[in-house]
Amino acid sequence: MPRTSLSVVSDSITARAPSKVNLHLGVGPRRDDGYHDLVTVFQALSLHDDIRVARANEMSVTVRGEGAGSVPTDGANIAVRAAVALADWAGRTGRVSIDIDKSIPVAGGMAGGSADAAGALVALAALWKLDIGRDDLAAIAADLGSDVPFALHGNTALGTGRGERLMQVLSRGEFHWVLALAREGLSTPAVYRELDRLRDSRSGGVAADDERDLLRRPDDLMQALASGDARAVAPLLHNDLQPAALSLQPTLRRTLRAGIDAGALGGIVSGSGPTCAFLCADEISAVNVAAELSGAGVARSVRTACGPAPGTRVLGTPEQA
Ligand code: ATP
Repeated sequence: MPRTSLSVVSDSITARAPSKVNLHLGVGPRRDDGYHDLVTVFQALSLHDDIRVARANEMSVTVRGEGAGSVPTDGANIAVRAAVALADWAGRTGRVSIDIDKSIPVAGGMAGGSADAAGALVALAALWKLDIGRDDLAAIAADLGSDVPFALHGNTALGTGRGERLMQVLSRGEFHWVLALAREGLSTPAVYRELDRLRDSRSGGVAADDERDLLRRPDDLMQALASGDARAVAPLLHNDLQPAALSLQPTLRRTLRAGIDAGALGGIVSGSGPTCAFLCADEISAVNVAAELSGAGVARSVRTACGPAPGTRVLGTPEQA
């Protein structure tokens, strides 16, 4: 969808949407409809995308920044789908331009697309001055994708269902993360298929007892988060998708080992991967781990980030941007 030179920009709104890491991701067996039930603890991180919307003569989207070349710029872009869904809810035409400035890696397991959808919803609700309640916005978000409600919510939350049913989790203080971005992305559906394959190949799949275990609430982790002690949180990081992501990208084992060797308290594949997230003792340790990981050549690029970050919000004055 090329951007037309006739686009008339009368005013614009920019929303900032956070990335996420799953501190715990328990994945139930494949359901008959192909989905998996989840029990997950999300933490929103300061690594973010900015989504700017403006009135225009037609719907258009441009993408720049991290991985922009692999993001669709037509109706398949999830931010466009969000704009269409919100316009439908409001009973209006969605004639807007959407400009996405990406820092969240594409297909990186950090919910970058979901962040862009949440950003489009929040920015457009403000641009159109919609009187829309949280519940309606969350329902539109959940229809767009199971991680979109959390991108709206931010902070730290327990997600159930497909991850769209959220409950706030108390998390004290600030946690310091290092993110190792991989050279190639991983497709989320492919990682779930690999998990199913690995489970099926192991003594006939998931038994009923295992199923209850897989979807158990991670109370120890939630207590550790409430204490604000990164040393208590680190050994409790858990991701059921990690073996599947490692099976599809075996080089990630080296990345995880390199982060621990560099001094991180714990490391985990983020969501469906392949980004690896390392929890560090403090900001200085995160900077050191990031420097060492960069030097080790195990990642395309390395970032530091902290969490919990706020949910998607409109940026006001230039100082806030
Ligand atoms: P998740 O962690 O939610 O499973 P992800 O972070 O691994 O997702 P995304 O960056 O959301 O992956 O991208 C998944 C796919 O969605 C990409 O391959 C891309 O083609 C498509 N996509 C559509 N719209 C967007 C967008 N605005 N930003 C990024 N990807 C998009």
